[in-house]
Amino acid sequence: MSFASLGLADVLVRAVSELGYNEPTPIQKQAIPAVLAGGDLMAGAQTGTGKTAGFTLPILQNLITKPVEHKKIRVLVLVPTRELAAQVEESVREYGKYTKVTSLVMFGGVSINPQMQALRKRIDILVATPGRLLDHVSQKSVDLSHVDTLVLDEADRMLDMGFIRDIRKVLALLPKKRQNLLFSATFSDEIKELADSLLDNPALIEV
Ligand code: AMP
Repeated sequence: MSFASLGLADVLVRAVSELGYNEPTPIQKQAIPAVLAGGDLMAGAQTGTGKTAGFTLPILQNLITKPVEHKKIRVLVLVPTRELAAQVEESVREYGKYTKVTSLVMFGGVSINPQMQALRKRIDILVATPGRLLDHVSQKSVDLSHVDTLVLDEADRMLDMGFIRDIRKVLALLPKKRQNLLFSATFSDEIKELADSLLDNPALIEV
């Protein structure tokens, strides 16, 4: 099976083949069609399985095949740490290098001003840690009113780090009608509770 046969556009297939990805990993084979179909997803996947491309590639594809009039943020990816935030946004840039999709990363522990500056440009995909995102919300520098796709990456780690209240605050700011993707390495009761409240009839993937 190839990336093209999963339904990905040439611009995306070209970017991944340049990175030496010849075949989709098991999670990619399942996640890519599920995300392209537009429904919610709950995926059990460890780091190293290729999960980042598993959600990034179909999200990029959905952005290019469903253009919108507005110039607001369309995809929000919440992650637990600044390292993961930087890594995920780097992947978005790599995989989307032959598209016009724009992205931004924001995390705490660094000055907020450059991030505010960057938010004045058109951003399609925002990758953020929850605390810093809420700082921007309170400064009114970020507008989440047009987010139609939400990803919670390493959701179990976000809960372990005590981000549940921040996550709930962010969820309350998003449009009700949206696609939700939840990735977690483990499935505690707390994750299941979050999934139950967040996801609508999700496709289930375990690798
Ligand atoms: P992740 O699980 O998303 O952190 O990805 C783990 C590593 O696998 C990253 O370094 C990716 O660049 C790499 N990778 C992702 N998908 C593929 C693929 N289909 N073929 C080869 N390497 C891949």
